[in-house]
Amino acid sequence: MTETCLFCQIARGEIPATIVHEDDHVLAFRDVNPQAPTHVLVIPREHLSSAADLASEHAELLAAMFDVANGVAVADGVAETGYRLVVNVGRDAGQSVDHLHLHVLGGRRLAWPPG
Ligand code: 5GP
Ligand code: ZN
Repeated sequence: MTETCLFCQIARGEIPATIVHEDDHVLAFRDVNPQAPTHVLVIPREHLSSAADLASEHAELLAAMFDVANGVAVADGVAETGYRLVVNVGRDAGQSVDHLHLHVLGGRRLAWPPG
């Protein structure tokens, strides 16, 4: 499972990505098909298929992911203008990679409700 998982492969350095943050538990890299001037994906190194698999034991990991996401917004200069944190879960939400990821989108006005 994790052998063929795209984001596990990125986390292991087997597939190149523009990494903007990495530590023992969390990795952040630029989306290959950006939907906004800032579009970064924040993932746990641990393979979790989606947010539906999160439980209380992941509280610290989740906090670390949000901390990294907020840091990315500051580093990219969008913290003041605002940004959106998105987690797609399952088919109707458009989840296309089955490894938990937090989208950080910013640098332009984002419509609401989303499409
Ligand atoms: P989802 O649709 O699952 O919420 O988001 C998956 C995201 O992963 C998409 O925005 C897509 O552009 C991005 N993505 C897919 N394959 C790759 C890849 O190989 N490298 C990078 N950096 N992003 C990818
Ligand atoms: Zn994975």
